[in-house]
Amino acid sequence: MSGTSGAAPSQSLFGRPLAEVAAALPDREPVACPLCRQPPVAMATDFQGLHLARCPRCRLQFHSPRPVLEQLATAVYGAHYHRPDEATADARHQRHYEHQLLRLSEYLDSSRRRVLDVGCGAGAFMRFAEGAGWHVEGTDMVVTDAARTTGGRIWAGELPTIDFGGAQFDVVRFNHVLEHTRDPVLELRCANALVAPGGVLLVGVPNLAGLSPWLKSCQSRLGLKTKRWRHYAALHHLWFFTPATLCRVAEAAGFEVVRWETPVMGRSGRSEWLTGLFRAVLESGRAGSLLDLYARRC
Ligand SMILES: [Zn+2]
Repeated sequence: MSGTSGAAPSQSLFGRPLAEVAAALPDREPVACPLCRQPPVAMATDFQGLHLARCPRCRLQFHSPRPVLEQLATAVYGAHYHRPDEATADARHQRHYEHQLLRLSEYLDSSRRRVLDVGCGAGAFMRFAEGAGWHVEGTDMVVTDAARTTGGRIWAGELPTIDFGGAQFDVVRFNHVLEHTRDPVLELRCANALVAPGGVLLVGVPNLAGLSPWLKSCQSRLGLKTKRWRHYAALHHLWFFTPATLCRVAEAAGFEVVRWETPVMGRSGRSEWLTGLFRAVLESGRAGSLLDLYARRC
């Protein structure tokens, strides 16, 4: 998701103390479960004073009460949000993007290569996919200069507010975007109208049910972490999905899930054999920290 410059603070709020976050994000709003319309039950408060909650019916976890998006746009999605090196995919991202394109190719014949990358950020995926022969257009709340230098058209705004003039795409992709939006069901309903018949939805999010987040949640509950619940990254993540809850959100938006998997990107600096070992264990056990879901329109 792209940011704005405007009234952005002089440094990123990530990791900053609670008082600074409260000053930069003074207004909070209650959120109901977008699937059940239920008010959530409180679950925990993170080290920055942000409230984690869970729907008592469907178990979807989200941030409530949460900062209003207009204040997040200036205080969080500011000038610091995208690093200059994000415009080009590094080796770890290239491997992941290649895998996603390979999966998409399994569901589409070779003449169907038109992708809409929602929340295209600095355009790294757009550039990579264009290099692989795909035609990629993008959207973002505020379009970055880096995204403008890709080959595809960029649409400015939140997805539900954009008039695509009836355009449709073979793939609509949300990669680490859905967890930042006001309402994930609404976003995917909009995506449903944008996926051409026989096309594919791809959603990538952090996997709350992965082994690493699960261990960190246990440590936070036991008070073993100084920055409790930091792994939720509630400063910019408003929704926290497991495979079960992400499938429910996709189905509520009129999609049929055809595959989900938990890719492991590995950490930069870690040896290749160790990354390979983690990948083999976590991907086969579907316990990786990322979650990629592929779906078709019902
Ligand atoms: Zn619910």
